[in-house]
Amino acid sequence: MYRSHHCGALTAAHIGTGVQLAGWVAKTRDKGFMLWIDLRDRYGITQLVLDEERSDSKLLETAKRIGRETVIQVSGTVLEREAKNPNMPTGDIEILVTSIDVLSPAQTPPFTIEDNTDGGEDLRMKYRYLDIRRTPVQQSLLFRSKVALLVRNFLAEHAFVEVETPYLIKSTPEGARDFVVPSRMNEGQFYALPQSPQTFKQLLMVGGMDKYFQIVKCFRDEDLRADRQPEFTQIDCELSFVHQNDIMACFESLLAFLLEEIHGVTPKPFPVISYEDAIKTYGNDKPDIRFGMTFTELNDLAQNKGFQVFDAQELVVGIAVPDAASWSRKQIDAWVNWVKRPQVGANGLVWVKCNEDGSYKSSVDKFFDADGLSKWAEACDAKAGDLILVMAGNANQTRTQLSALRMALAEELGLRKPDEFAPLWVVDFPLFEKDEETGALHAMHHPFTAPKPEHLKKLESDPTAVIAQAYDLVLNGNEIGGGSIRIHDRITQEKMLSLLGFSEEEAKAQFGFLMDAFRYGAPPHGGIALGFDRLVAILDGKETIRDYIAFPKNNSGRDVMIDAPAPLDTDQLDELALIVKPKPE
Ligand code: ASP
Repeated sequence: MYRSHHCGALTAAHIGTGVQLAGWVAKTRDKGFMLWIDLRDRYGITQLVLDEERSDSKLLETAKRIGRETVIQVSGTVLEREAKNPNMPTGDIEILVTSIDVLSPAQTPPFTIEDNTDGGEDLRMKYRYLDIRRTPVQQSLLFRSKVALLVRNFLAEHAFVEVETPYLIKSTPEGARDFVVPSRMNEGQFYALPQSPQTFKQLLMVGGMDKYFQIVKCFRDEDLRADRQPEFTQIDCELSFVHQNDIMACFESLLAFLLEEIHGVTPKPFPVISYEDAIKTYGNDKPDIRFGMTFTELNDLAQNKGFQVFDAQELVVGIAVPDAASWSRKQIDAWVNWVKRPQVGANGLVWVKCNEDGSYKSSVDKFFDADGLSKWAEACDAKAGDLILVMAGNANQTRTQLSALRMALAEELGLRKPDEFAPLWVVDFPLFEKDEETGALHAMHHPFTAPKPEHLKKLESDPTAVIAQAYDLVLNGNEIGGGSIRIHDRITQEKMLSLLGFSEEEAKAQFGFLMDAFRYGAPPHGGIALGFDRLVAILDGKETIRDYIAFPKNNSGRDVMIDAPAPLDTDQLDELALIVKPKPE
């Protein structure tokens, strides 16, 4: 027996008991005549003690030589501590050690294994197994496991069946590039890793599984943005004989259940807002609705009043920043400069202070009198003490820029509270996005998404006006899930692929299997996938998903611990019939 108890288990109730513990030496304190060791395992820390009076002198000498992170097994007796530590579960006791076995020696670790470590990100990733010993990382992984279990239990209770779908498949388009795997047995041919199990889960519906789920890895070879992982986990689901509302109700209950279980809050029912309204009100299709600062269009009140900067623009739009009328010119100028940075790219910012005494002071006083500005304030629902910020320009760009400003201001003002949860649904997405340059149509969700039945007629005549039966689940400014009702007849699916630019042959080669399946009785179906890594992070009040992945990749898609990706040796390349062109000198 290695241990009778874990390092987090012993309390005053155990005083006088003989115990065995095993774990890592977190810290030692050597007072010469007395030695304390903090012994750590996943469950906690227990203080060990040896001294000249009560311990064997050889044992004390051995113990003094044991370095940090050495793995030891000890036997001893539980004693009441003289100086109790109420901040730790085992703070009432210590173990008077009678024997120590070194199970595994340890070199000095490259960074301290403590809550606040001195190790930088790169070093911690290289030695991720040591990082995982640290309590915050361990807590994150335990939290992830807890959420996964809650999700599984919920879905199982709602009759979902967990089915594994293959990883070695053919391209399933979700708008990214595929990671590919060469097939040794089929020279010159490649599998693609799934960007999602989309087509398989639809085939499971054709197969009569009725309700499917899987907590599953997906792979997307995208240019990496901060905090994106090339492989990530989805809670992937599909249901038969359902309408959009059925799916939304089901996954609203799932998220409400998680929020209730984890935080004791039930923000039900979730608001539902159309894509168009989301863009107009927040400049963003994944709005953070924990705070206001909603957009007000000011074209009627601000144009043709002599201020030419506004007159020629497609959109003049403002937000009211709460209690910011007291900001100094310097503070306001800092935000003006902030929006002019290339990352945001705005031309500037017009500001109006709605002073407490009812007067106005603005950067456009020359063009607008108090009466004019009071109309802006009324439209923006600005109260005395608020600051109105206004942008103008091309509608799409200006909304995006003002949205960036709204989020940055909220961050600065502490309005993005991590312990507040404001989920919502965004619905009525357009079916297609049009490439401004080439005029080509792209699926806004994916090519299997069904249009609203009443929009089917417009599919060919006016495709960009077609609204999809698609929905996104948004939490605190993050898209945490998205799904749709699917096309389940061959003719519509063929038409859709042709509108997306697939020739008949290409469509058949890539998705023939799906369209063939639709010949054999496909039930109406739809589904959703939630981004599990992000969901877990947000539920834990954090935004960095990397902390919730045991072995994440860095921003260049590398695993720096195992040093992947790596070149293959020539034999392997030969076997796979892959020729790598030498790089030009
Ligand atoms: N396959 C979709 C995705 O990965 C989700 C869905 O439509 O169910 O985003």
